[in-house]
Amino acid sequence: MQTREVFSEIEKQRNQLTQTLMELIRIPAIGPENGGEGELAKAEKLTQILTAIGFDKIERYDAEDKRVQSKKRPNIVAYLNGETDTERLWIITHLDIVPPGEESMWTVTKPFEPIIKEGRIYGRGSEDNMQSMVASIFAAKVLKEMHIKPKRTMILAFVSDEEHGSEHGIQHLIKKGLFKKEDLIIVPDSGNENGSFIEIAEKSAYWFRIRTIGKQAHASRPHMGLNAHRLGMEFALALDKMLHEKYPAKDPCFDPPESTIEPTKKEKNVDAVNILPGEDLVYFDCRILPNYDLDKIASDIQRYAKEFENNTGAIIKIESLQKSVAPTPTDANARVVHMLREAIRKVRQIEPKVGGIGGGTCAAFFRKIPVPAVVWSTIDETAHQSNEYAHIDNIVNDAKVYALLALM
Ligand SMILES: [Zn+2]
Repeated sequence: MQTREVFSEIEKQRNQLTQTLMELIRIPAIGPENGGEGELAKAEKLTQILTAIGFDKIERYDAEDKRVQSKKRPNIVAYLNGETDTERLWIITHLDIVPPGEESMWTVTKPFEPIIKEGRIYGRGSEDNMQSMVASIFAAKVLKEMHIKPKRTMILAFVSDEEHGSEHGIQHLIKKGLFKKEDLIIVPDSGNENGSFIEIAEKSAYWFRIRTIGKQAHASRPHMGLNAHRLGMEFALALDKMLHEKYPAKDPCFDPPESTIEPTKKEKNVDAVNILPGEDLVYFDCRILPNYDLDKIASDIQRYAKEFENNTGAIIKIESLQKSVAPTPTDANARVVHMLREAIRKVRQIEPKVGGIGGGTCAAFFRKIPVPAVVWSTIDETAHQSNEYAHIDNIVNDAKVYALLALM
């Protein structure tokens, strides 16, 4: 009975929830690696929202970061006290967003001017990660307003720096010793379109930059130089092919089932059309199935670069940006997996599937402690794309799942 009333109250707050999400989208929170000033402005707005709801305790754990003007990367932890402090329910979402990318590709609305269209809210960060942020806030808000004390203490954490390694975010909170083994940890930073996928495992990640060094020359006299741009492209494509052929394994527990190896960012080289570039920079993002050895892949890449150098006369430097070996997966029988399954069945009338994904999330840091953690949300996977959006229905329904978890 109580659950049904809570659900219908969440439904009733649909407009408020939409407004809150739009308010948050209007405040960009981009990390310094992407030329931003960090998350402070958004954290301040969020603190106002949380204070108005009346959480029992709101704490701040700022991490120092000299690269941003405020010198701090904020982390907020808000508590709603429950009947028991064992098996506390954590829902952890991130404040930071990725930059909009090419603005001309945003055809529905500008990245930081959210609009509602056909039941969706468009704007940068709408899906990643503010839809889940708002869902968790409204689950707690409704319980508070209805004077329902949750069975277990509910803790919402809002962290910085997720898009660039989490050193100033979740890792900072872990160092402060905030998490206990028996806590239930949900990181809703990935998911699928009907909320039927609970992520308990992830792939290893290897990000690197290929620096190709040739010799600059006048473009009309290419024999005087060595075109680093052409050689860089040739090497990148050849490497791409080699890695795909050498590491083809599939694991049906993962989505997608294979390792992903993608050339991504390309750095600008010369300013003029008539200069033969002497240096070329291209980046790769690789997500590797955990049964492959990341060090072996890295040494394969080095060897391939040496061969290419010998054949072309260019210098190829492989510069590692991130190399993280996937931690041991969360047990499929862990309490948090069991409870989330149950809650999804009740709210959605579907049978969830438990498995792995490619995108690294904050859950990995918990698995390393180890504390069991799951990743779950209902999304169309528009994160990091232009015209990113969140379905209002999904926010409402995910909020119901969170509320139910607090009451179970
Ligand atoms: Zn995210």
